[in-house]
Amino acid sequence: MAENPYAKYFDYNATTPLSAAARKAWLEASDQHWHNPSSLYREAGMARLKLEDCREELADFLGCDEPERIVFTGGATEANNAVIRYFSRKEKKLAFSAVEHPCVMETAEKVCGKNSRIIPVNSLTGAVDLESLAEFLDSENPGAVSVMAANNETGAIQAWKEIAEMCAERGIDYHCDAAQWIGKMPANALETCGFVTGSAHKFGGPKGVGFLMLPEGLDSGEFEIFVGGPQENGFRAGTEDLAGVMAMMAALSGLDENFDSGQKGRDRDAFEREVEEKVGCELLLRDSPRLWNTSMFVLPHSKNLKWLTRLSQRGFSVSTGSACSAGKGNPSRVMQAMELDFDRMGRVLRVSGGRDTSEDDWMALADAIREVGAEL
Ligand code: PLP
Repeated sequence: MAENPYAKYFDYNATTPLSAAARKAWLEASDQHWHNPSSLYREAGMARLKLEDCREELADFLGCDEPERIVFTGGATEANNAVIRYFSRKEKKLAFSAVEHPCVMETAEKVCGKNSRIIPVNSLTGAVDLESLAEFLDSENPGAVSVMAANNETGAIQAWKEIAEMCAERGIDYHCDAAQWIGKMPANALETCGFVTGSAHKFGGPKGVGFLMLPEGLDSGEFEIFVGGPQENGFRAGTEDLAGVMAMMAALSGLDENFDSGQKGRDRDAFEREVEEKVGCELLLRDSPRLWNTSMFVLPHSKNLKWLTRLSQRGFSVSTGSACSAGKGNPSRVMQAMELDFDRMGRVLRVSGGRDTSEDDWMALADAIREVGAEL
């Protein structure tokens, strides 16, 4: 088997390398389908057909039988902003979980302000507790709810199917940020969520490309991301990034359907046992539903940045939390929601592997962490 060139890369939740299929599709689209899909000659028509094929394919992937509800965007931040701003325009009281990505949380706080509420998460599981959520929804009566599918920092999985049902029963709009779910977990039930957002670079596609699935019955008069053209069925003006979209879909359809996430989770678990037993790390959310690729733990001593730097010198890429809060100095809201004290927050390391990360790769990382621990 060919050697994995990314064997020491453990920051897949921040971004993933471009897959070979995505690269090929991007080059093909750029060379052959560079025409403007809105123009009227034959080549432009071909570009339009390719774009609509991608829309159908993505709709199918999400379990949606109306491709016109798919809007291609410039990533998940744009898509999430658009959904939250829509809720605000409609003056819907918005409830969002305490562990949402900053592009949801900060937008909600900025544009919904007093008309927003935070849904607490269980500090041990990092997830929204369903019984408490039912009480919360009945007492707060929000018009919209935003709870992600899986968390980028902890890997905690939210019960999005049940949350979608709870919202539907109460006539509440539901938005599910599935940026960390898609490409890692089965996605064909996501349609039930209403508003769903995702990002290509989290699953081997290019950066700056993503999508939004809208709920049934919304028309472009009500929901406009950009104004100034009829593209994307009127939901988002601007010449479409066909190469980006084709690359995104090639990355998605190139994922192995028989991928054994259970085995991958066990490889990660073996790594966790090593760092727990041999380094004295304190594992977070070990026994909670988590993505198979993510591990978050508190190092036994010294600031996490020191460990990160020394691991980086050995060629390993890891994270101290989400790339968005890394380097900013202010503690991540996710870690605050998990009630970590200031000292432990400064010792948190997050590692996230990919589909090709093998048990040997995980073990090599554990060895490097042990060596760094001894040095420090
Ligand atoms: N939502 C989640 C859960 C993420 O992890 C990210 C990426 O960091 C985003 C949204 C933003 O995605 P993008 O980089 O496509 O704007």
